[in-house]
Amino acid sequence: MNIASHMARAGRAFQERPALMKGGVVLQTYGGVSDRVARLASALAGRFGLKAGDRVALALSNCPEYLELLYGCWHAGLVPVPINAKLHKSDFSYIFENSEATLCFTSTKLMGVIEPLKGVALQTVVEVPSDDYQRMLAQDPLPLVTREPDDPAWLFYTSGTTGQPKGAVLSHRNLLAMCLCYFADVDQQAPWNAILHAAPMSHGSGLYGLPHVIQAGCHIIPESGGFDVEEIYRLIEVTPGLVFFAAPTMVKRLLDHPVDTDTANLKTIIYGGGPMYVEDCLGALERFGPKLAQLYGQGESPMTITALSAAIHGDKEHPHWLRRLSSVGIAQSAVEVRSANKDGAYLPDGEVGEVLVRGETVMNGYWRNAEASGQALAGGWLHTGDYGVLDEEGFLTLKDRSKDLIISGGTNIYPREIEEVLVKHPQIAEISVIGRPDREWGEAVVAYVVPKRGLRIDTASVEKFCIENMARFKRPKHYRFVESLPKNNYGKVLKKTLREMEKSVQE
Ligand code: AMP
Repeated sequence: MNIASHMARAGRAFQERPALMKGGVVLQTYGGVSDRVARLASALAGRFGLKAGDRVALALSNCPEYLELLYGCWHAGLVPVPINAKLHKSDFSYIFENSEATLCFTSTKLMGVIEPLKGVALQTVVEVPSDDYQRMLAQDPLPLVTREPDDPAWLFYTSGTTGQPKGAVLSHRNLLAMCLCYFADVDQQAPWNAILHAAPMSHGSGLYGLPHVIQAGCHIIPESGGFDVEEIYRLIEVTPGLVFFAAPTMVKRLLDHPVDTDTANLKTIIYGGGPMYVEDCLGALERFGPKLAQLYGQGESPMTITALSAAIHGDKEHPHWLRRLSSVGIAQSAVEVRSANKDGAYLPDGEVGEVLVRGETVMNGYWRNAEASGQALAGGWLHTGDYGVLDEEGFLTLKDRSKDLIISGGTNIYPREIEEVLVKHPQIAEISVIGRPDREWGEAVVAYVVPKRGLRIDTASVEKFCIENMARFKRPKHYRFVESLPKNNYGKVLKKTLREMEKSVQE
């Protein structure tokens, strides 16, 4: 079972269907792209002498070649290592060495960073696009290399909000199960679909490219190369059946942009990867209608732990509608989800514990890291490090990552609960809550607040708002007003950086 068989199949069955577009122009049909995939695979195996199971690094920003490179690697039995193009050179270097990738494809603008890293593992760097790359496409096509379901298919380096990234080894089976869950739980197939890759293809958007190859949908690469709000609204206007994956911060940017665009063409915005506050979810439903679907996943179980479908988003009459919107949905079809205490014992509905997952999408382990694999997969369950609670209907509400929990006066305080309230304050644009060591309470709640543009925040009004809307012991003891929150390249707020910033603040 080789995940690349889907591309070969689409190339035969849907030869003339557009596979790739940029700037409103069709660049490749499925017939064309599947042919290029087989030729690239031939060059990878022949010219570079790579053998099944070898890793190939993709240090690329979103580009039309991304898709054919992923499938070219799989076609030749290789293991792509997609790396976020915005990482620091020390991260690239670490990932090259750790994955032992000898070949890297990189964008022109990254050549200056990647070329000098040739050495311990990395031997060859190919610029994309380039004449050299073009020559690879002149090889005779390679027949599809056979792979077993548990053979590695994608080395997914975790986004590293803490410590060194670890490479989650995702198999062909994991990726296939993720695709089937996409259709079962996240977004149903339609006669015509197009996926816009506005978020990094090294992560969620690239992973969700796979189900769109299965159904021979079109892949659209934005001209801006990334998440440009105006371009997205323009594309929505002209592209029927448009789907895209966005981190919640990106959805918020879409909402902050006043528009009168007709969004009838939009099929689904799939959000996930970080907390979506109910306030923003309601704003998005008002702007786009019930065309939102949420997923909760992590690199170790890609895009697949729970999902909140568009139908549930739209089911306003349901007595638990609002509660459901604040959840991350129900277990996806290929996995089981539990919450457990620190000894691994399952907790009853309604009790907060660590979220555990097992099933077809869960990785077999981390790349050459038996200790971390053993810990993450203890007892046969993936320990997500997220805290959550399942309700009696099976909906999971995430609290916070275990390390973000604040314990003040011996009581657990979940930053997310405070953020959910404060984000509704009329002067607040963004908020992130952390704990700081406190002699009296153990930890004290600190709110980092980004004011809405042009507004000054009046602390007394925020304090009053807290007293009206949350238990007194939860309200922040300190406020820090900042212009923006530190975020990683996927748009996740870096609480670790906030905690470091907090260390330098004297009270
Ligand atoms: P990554 O491995 O980089 O994809 O990060 C995975 C982590 O992102 C999860 O363990 C969660 O902490 C967080 N996350 C993913 N999806 C969601 C979601 N829908 N809501 C809240 N947090 C999420």
